[in-house]
Amino acid sequence: MRGAVQGVGFRPYVFRLAGELGLGGWVGNDHRGVVLEAEGEAAAVSVFLERFPAELPPRAVVHEIERSWVEVAGATAFVIRESGRDGARSAVLLPDAATCEDCVREILDPRDRRYGYPFTNCTNCGPRFSIITGLPYDRPRTTMAGFAMCAACAAEYADPRDRRFHAQPNACPACGPRLWLEDGAGAPTGGTAESLAAAAGALREGRILAVKGLGGFHLMVDARDEESVARLRRRKGRYEKPLALMVPDLETARRLCAVDAVAAAALTSAEAPIVLLPRRPDAGVAAAVAPGNPRLGVMLPYTPLHHLLLRAVGFPLVATSGNLSDEPICTDNAEARERLKAIADLFLLHDRPIARHVDDSVLACPGGAFLPIRRARGLAPLPILVPRPSSGEAAPGILAVGAHQKNVVALMLGRRVFLSQHIGDMETPQAYAAFERVIRDFLSMYEARPALIAHDLHPDYLSTRWAREVVAGGVEDSSEAKSLLDGELVPVQHHHAHLASCLAEHGSEGRALGVIWDGTGLGTDGTIWGGEFLLGDARGFERVAALRPFRLPGGEAAVREPRRVALALLWELFGEEARARMPAGAFDDEVGALLGKMLATGSRAPVTTSAGRLFDGVAALVGLRNEVSFEGQAAMELEFVADWAIEDAYSIDVREGAALELDWRPLLAAVVEDSRRGVPAAIIAARFHGALAEGIGRVAERVGEPVVALSGGCFQNLLLTERCRRRLRRGGFEVLIHRQVPPNDGGISLGQAAVAAARRREPT
Ligand SMILES: [Zn+2]
Ligand SMILES: [Zn+2]
Ligand SMILES: [Zn+2]
Repeated sequence: MRGAVQGVGFRPYVFRLAGELGLGGWVGNDHRGVVLEAEGEAAAVSVFLERFPAELPPRAVVHEIERSWVEVAGATAFVIRESGRDGARSAVLLPDAATCEDCVREILDPRDRRYGYPFTNCTNCGPRFSIITGLPYDRPRTTMAGFAMCAACAAEYADPRDRRFHAQPNACPACGPRLWLEDGAGAPTGGTAESLAAAAGALREGRILAVKGLGGFHLMVDARDEESVARLRRRKGRYEKPLALMVPDLETARRLCAVDAVAAAALTSAEAPIVLLPRRPDAGVAAAVAPGNPRLGVMLPYTPLHHLLLRAVGFPLVATSGNLSDEPICTDNAEARERLKAIADLFLLHDRPIARHVDDSVLACPGGAFLPIRRARGLAPLPILVPRPSSGEAAPGILAVGAHQKNVVALMLGRRVFLSQHIGDMETPQAYAAFERVIRDFLSMYEARPALIAHDLHPDYLSTRWAREVVAGGVEDSSEAKSLLDGELVPVQHHHAHLASCLAEHGSEGRALGVIWDGTGLGTDGTIWGGEFLLGDARGFERVAALRPFRLPGGEAAVREPRRVALALLWELFGEEARARMPAGAFDDEVGALLGKMLATGSRAPVTTSAGRLFDGVAALVGLRNEVSFEGQAAMELEFVADWAIEDAYSIDVREGAALELDWRPLLAAVVEDSRRGVPAAIIAARFHGALAEGIGRVAERVGEPVVALSGGCFQNLLLTERCRRRLRRGGFEVLIHRQVPPNDGGISLGQAAVAAARRREPT
């Protein structure tokens, strides 16, 4: 059996089933997965073959079963064999799993020996990826290696009938990790119960608590208290991005937000992600948690420590990653004390080391389906299965290093593309270090020596530079990664990677029209793309249409200042008149004149087809926001303000040319006119979304390809996605929407790997 089959109670499951049917034989883990031999009466063997795949343990995911008939060995008993160390390393590393119901019951039961114990786990739940230091998955190759099991735990571990049989992180208050609370000066207080009570007391008083969790630190504070949330934002340097919440239970989540059946299933799943939910007007959560946002990001407790802490406080907590804005999450006690000392008042710590950082995953559930926004805890490093292998299972594989923002790296081995946890924006030295660490980690875990290294076309992305400098050997580098990497570089155009990613996760090998809309990506013509219609597959593409281009006065500055984009859009309609048409007070005269000059001459004003920037510009025109503190903020606000009940749309043109051009000028003229007449932003924004969906539908009809794939960061916009899906379905198209990897740049590395694999199969 290949797949996620180790550490999920697979061997005891086989052991029990074989025992029940009176079969002899054995089952064991090796580097490839789980191997078993069963022998007995023909009838019993066929019952086994029938029941075996039908009754798998809940956390097991079987990708492949290989079977053959072997000589009878004469075994009468069925045994569990110790792990071997042979074979190619393709066993799947398991993601961390939220605490199961059985374990929650134990920590709340005063008669249980694990009552109140924050590190309780079993075969069905607990840490995996965040504690694994090597393969195969066994206690000595986890960060639990330093804890010797007591007699009671060892007995559970050895008993195939026990829920903790071979539960590698098995622990109890007598032998396992300890919890303590520290103030800023590092002075620890009391035992587990006292520490939890003191931590809860501090939260009730509005203090900021750093909590060491599963894959890193959270910063927690009372989510109801405006002043405390504001203080956390100030100290963390995170001024406007929404903050996630952890709530005690599903009932609390329902009081805060509308939770449908699909969202409830996501919240209570073993992945336990942050789920973006429509907030209730009377949610009783501080406005500073998610300013101007109609959704709240909510998760449930997913470790025993979280369950105990949330029960002790009894109200929603902000639970945001423990870092300074935009840096990777802290994982180590000493590091956290240093990096978080200016943010947290108190530290709730433990002594189980975290092997690697794993952030919380983020998911939206539009229309009863999952839309991943960030893929990390609970999901990483599970592979995406693609339809065809890059080559044989034992082949050296393909490494894909992702893009610049929301970086995720991928390793393709055979049919499986292993995606790393979310690394983040490669802006800080810490993020770059995390990127290198994750690559090293992946290559050594799987003992992979990739033959191809796929990277973005953009020469200045740090991921591209890493590929070129480290791999191509331009720079002296002593890391192990370098010695493992001597593969050939494969540059992949950014939007092509988005298209290939969407096709790969849907197992589609045919052609599609990719509607790839995002912020920015370097095009093959050297300009900034971002509103693209690419016809093709993983092997290649033709750019059959794009948004009508416009200029970005000041380049990067226009990303931070949507008002600059607004002016540039108006310029395309009104030329020199544009400045007079801007909303009052957008610029002072001097700046306005300077920008006008840039637009008139084209100097320091690169051309783009970016859909993300079009959203930004329109947001500024309707008066939502002149400047942003994070990329995409203005575009998000335009989505949030839109009234979903408004069905009519502005007009938009599709122009013929060498390629089609989606001309937004009629749409923009209508936005300007409606704004002048005082039409509310809610209506303008809805008509704007409607126009873009109509435009996409019309381009798709002209191109005539029956399958349309929607990808790129703009398709995190639920209104745009919904309107496009409806318009395209009405036109008879099959629509592919991301379900397994994010539409944003977090999904890019899957596409890069798919493109590299296709080129290896069929070199161009
Ligand atoms: Zn459990
Ligand atoms: Zn114990
Ligand atoms: Zn992108």
